[in-house]
Amino acid sequence: MQYHPDVNKDASATKKMAEINEAYNVLSDPEKRKKYDQFGEAGLNSDQFTGGHSGGYQQADFSDFFSGTQGGGSFFEDLIGNFFGQQSSYGGSNEASSQKKGSDIFFETALTYEEAAVTGKKIQVQLDRMESCEKCKGTGAKEGTQPKTCSQCQGSGKVMGVQNTILGSFRSVTTCPKCQGKGKVIENPCPSCNGTGRNKKSKRIDLEIPSGLTEGVRIRYRGMGNAGYQGAENGDLYVQIRLKVHEHFQRKGNDLIYQTRITFPEAVMGTNLTIPGLYGTEKIKIPPGTESGAIFTIKNKGMPYPTQSKRKGNLVIIVKTIIPSINQLDKESQNLVKELSKKLKS
Ligand SMILES: [Zn+2]
Ligand SMILES: [Zn+2]
Repeated sequence: MQYHPDVNKDASATKKMAEINEAYNVLSDPEKRKKYDQFGEAGLNSDQFTGGHSGGYQQADFSDFFSGTQGGGSFFEDLIGNFFGQQSSYGGSNEASSQKKGSDIFFETALTYEEAAVTGKKIQVQLDRMESCEKCKGTGAKEGTQPKTCSQCQGSGKVMGVQNTILGSFRSVTTCPKCQGKGKVIENPCPSCNGTGRNKKSKRIDLEIPSGLTEGVRIRYRGMGNAGYQGAENGDLYVQIRLKVHEHFQRKGNDLIYQTRITFPEAVMGTNLTIPGLYGTEKIKIPPGTESGAIFTIKNKGMPYPTQSKRKGNLVIIVKTIIPSINQLDKESQNLVKELSKKLKS
């Protein structure tokens, strides 16, 4: 608090505050924190770490940083929420009055590969969030009344103060004590929201998920976070994507890897295989004389590329030959193999 620009007018304090803000930025973003732990500051500034659908990272806001712990949430609660992948948000009606904009909400969801591949996929999420009060339309003033311009600061939110110290009197601009810097005073607070202009609600909302998502991508939904205080701007909603492990495929970039096994005679004579695909079953012809570990590719049947829904990765099939030990075979098969061995030698 001692370095906050409202308190400390010293130039070095501004620099110090910028450092604090940077640290907060890093700590509050698990992705950034990871980069910082791995690569230091260089990692944070590198372009490759700011991609994805999220459109960059949100800037830490001083008011978020200083919103007290007596409210419904705090900086630390938010930080912990981030690390453990739970929804977290600042809430509470008695948060610091300097916070006008609604805070952001972080949410994590797990998708199957199939869901991540579909274009225009919708998911439903249940969110506890602050919503604009219906009774007062978010103004915080009782129905039929309006917030009034503050008489002490004439709406500017700031007042001149005189500080008496042993060195003399100093004039300074401080936040208006009557309206706490808002410039408006509510004489009759809305009883439904206690004058905050917002209420906590649990709501089920539909979200459209872009196709071609990769593990860990964070999608930003602007204005879908917590409602602002007394009608101020809403925060954003961030959805972090996790991909569930697939029973058939491994993922390598946008390619899907599928491993299958064929018998020794199938490898010798060739065969037709039906295999699971992301968009339905796929057929593939295995030619005679296929070596174990041979790779076959079905083009354009992998994961879509983000934002280019027509372009997809490939489905890559690795075919391995089952080579049984002679003891695992019945008598008849053992004789057939022995006979074949003699034939191949002659
Ligand atoms: Zn209200
Ligand atoms: Zn005022």
